[in-house]
Amino acid sequence: MNRRNFVGAMAAVAAAAQPLAAQGGKPVRETPLRADFWGPQYYDDQERQQLTDVLETGRPFRWYGRGGQPPMKVATFEKEFAARMNTKYALAVTSGTAALETAMAALQIGPGDEVIIPAWTWHSSATSVVRAGGLPIFAEIDESFNIDPSDIEHRITSKTKVIMAVHLQGCPADMDRIMAIGRKHGVKVLEDCAQSVGGSYKGRPLGSLGDISIYSHQLNKTITAGEGGAVVTNDPVMFERAARFHDLGGLRGLHSGLVGQPRLDVFVGANYRMSEFTGGVMLAQVRKLDRIVDAVRGNAKRVYEGIRDLPGIRFRHLPDPEGELGTAVFLRFDNKQNRDKFIALMKAENVPVAPPGGSVVLPVLPYIVKKVTVHPDWPTWTTGRGKSIKYGPATCPKTLGILDRFAGPAIDPKYTRRDTDDIIAAIRKVYPAIA
Ligand SMILES: *Cc1c(COP(=O)(O)O)cnc(C)c1O
Repeated sequence: MNRRNFVGAMAAVAAAAQPLAAQGGKPVRETPLRADFWGPQYYDDQERQQLTDVLETGRPFRWYGRGGQPPMKVATFEKEFAARMNTKYALAVTSGTAALETAMAALQIGPGDEVIIPAWTWHSSATSVVRAGGLPIFAEIDESFNIDPSDIEHRITSKTKVIMAVHLQGCPADMDRIMAIGRKHGVKVLEDCAQSVGGSYKGRPLGSLGDISIYSHQLNKTITAGEGGAVVTNDPVMFERAARFHDLGGLRGLHSGLVGQPRLDVFVGANYRMSEFTGGVMLAQVRKLDRIVDAVRGNAKRVYEGIRDLPGIRFRHLPDPEGELGTAVFLRFDNKQNRDKFIALMKAENVPVAPPGGSVVLPVLPYIVKKVTVHPDWPTWTTGRGKSIKYGPATCPKTLGILDRFAGPAIDPKYTRRDTDDIIAAIRKVYPAIA
């Protein structure tokens, strides 16, 4: 045992010696520690000024308005967002879900096409595929809570067009392995970065590795205007198709100029245009992205370092620890019973922890199991393959098992040193009583 481990072990003995709050001892904190939404904690005069500009000029629409030149808030947000994500093009849209539907259009997903997605992710990952007429094929997750690269390849068929790599709860998916599978089979990779805006993989911003990528700016995500989203890509044709899809098939001067020359005809699209109010707030927020990411990462790192020496401790698998946001610090237990005991003991210490969150196990949801769509003839589940495919818990046992064995504290970018010390103290106190 080296000195650091020895000191850690002694601290653990001392911590374990204190009576647990669940058994009548003094809790680590007097009142429960709470994580807050990140973006709004950083709202200040910059967001206010952006909104005031839109109100005072009376120019809320991105393409034209009172006065001469078109307003530029959404346009500037797109430019700065693309630069931050190290991609050629960025398109602002109304939500992450709208961004996924736009990406499906850019990828030309339609009836008969299959998209491989993780069994554990947000509803939109599957609904965007279904609403394009395509068929979602679920793969298991691994202990990073992201799609398990070793469960993808055997699900690829001649109909597979896209693998959706979702970077869940702040943690980058294993992009090297996923991209290699995609390239080998001629299947495109879409990165869904909604839960990891600002994260990176091996030094590259999440969203810059796949063929096309999406982000959400809804309240729960890294930066926010309440709602909002973006699509990024380096491919001028996919960008043109995305821009046209989000604006009823048209291509306006700004985007037309970006792609050089239009290559596509008008087609049936939707309207997912971002307003200047949202664009202004997002512009102020993207300029704070690095500050927020550094803060939350720093706090997560302190917690990891403060408990790493606990005998037997195991963490969530991180394909790139440096690139992770640190949304939460997850500990692994041998079974659900121990995990639930950890949750109960930590709650008593007023340092609450939670299982993996912010997503759902899609293959067990009744609307997926029963294949419910707005119209009975919706093409997703009327093909031979669509009819025969079965969902339900028996199709994702590994995913369900992993989600039962993990829990951890959420991390807030504005936690004080005292807050992270309390997290460390509570875990050090409680963990030896379980493992
Ligand atoms: C939040 C989220 C979305 C959808 O974003 P909205 O802005 O809420 O529509 C898509 N994918 C994932 C993984 C998400 O977490």
